[in-house]
Amino acid sequence: MQVPSPIHQLKLPLLKEKNVEVWVKRDDLIHAEVSGNKWRKLKYNLEAYHKGDYQSMLTFGGAYSNHILATAKLGSDFGIPTHGIIRGEKHLPLNPTLLKAEELGMQLHYISRTEYRSKHTEEFLNRLKEQFGNVYIIPEGGGNIEGVVGCKDIVKEVNNDFDYVMTDCGTGATLAGINLALNTNQKAVGIAVLKGGTFIIEEVKRFYELMNEDLIHLKRIDLITDYHFGGYAKHKQELITFMRDLYKQTGVKTDPVYTGKLFFALIDLIKKDYFPEKSKIVVVHTGGLQGIEGFEKRYNCSIYEE
Ligand SMILES: *Cc1c(COP(=O)(O)O)cnc(C)c1O
Repeated sequence: MQVPSPIHQLKLPLLKEKNVEVWVKRDDLIHAEVSGNKWRKLKYNLEAYHKGDYQSMLTFGGAYSNHILATAKLGSDFGIPTHGIIRGEKHLPLNPTLLKAEELGMQLHYISRTEYRSKHTEEFLNRLKEQFGNVYIIPEGGGNIEGVVGCKDIVKEVNNDFDYVMTDCGTGATLAGINLALNTNQKAVGIAVLKGGTFIIEEVKRFYELMNEDLIHLKRIDLITDYHFGGYAKHKQELITFMRDLYKQTGVKTDPVYTGKLFFALIDLIKKDYFPEKSKIVVVHTGGLQGIEGFEKRYNCSIYEE
């Protein structure tokens, strides 16, 4: 596990031209299977697991979930039995994500999409506890208080001065944590990867209420919802071409579900003068690279080789 993760300056002609500085917080380099922000979110959950009297860990995710694989890997490393509740039907052969999770010893349980929607109700959680005994349950994506607190560490590790920190958002837990670690004169910019991403602010607010944090913190957040490229895990050639070019020019690999959209948004916002001159921007590369292989198989495409 490479923590603290490195930070690299991004060099591109556009940045010089617009007179802004961009630093990439390389959480993608933390681990190949424990994807960047998933480590941040699982770290204090692991501590909570060890403090309690639990026998296994259980969490939820879609078939390509970075969080499922991260949990499976940590379970295997720490000798914790893990259960993954997977949305939708089982498909054989397993995709690379679920195959690795299973090889790491995670027990996979498939539930219907309808059932999955009710996964956080008390009734459903009680059923899980009956079925699995003394189990430590982590919400989808690692989105609980421990998860949010872990994401504060991303900012705490950055020693240089900056004006903006940018991240991609699925549930909003990462954005919530990052934002809590900022000074009043810094801003958090969140890029929603799902369609209709305005719910993310509600989620951040819900986390702050749970944590008894002042809602004034919400004022530092700018949530941008028009870079979803059609929604979660959709194939859009414009995005793939961008990711390929970015990799050629900077050596930074991104994934098509999360970080490709984040970097696309970063470059596009700079082009549109969203950031004032002389801004220093930290962009958090949240990881997700394990998902590339599954995406390529699913869409029969090759992202980094033409
Ligand atoms: C899960 C994930 C996200 C989304 O994080 P949230 O805390 O759910 O908003 C972003 N990037 C990557 C690579 C992820 O795996």
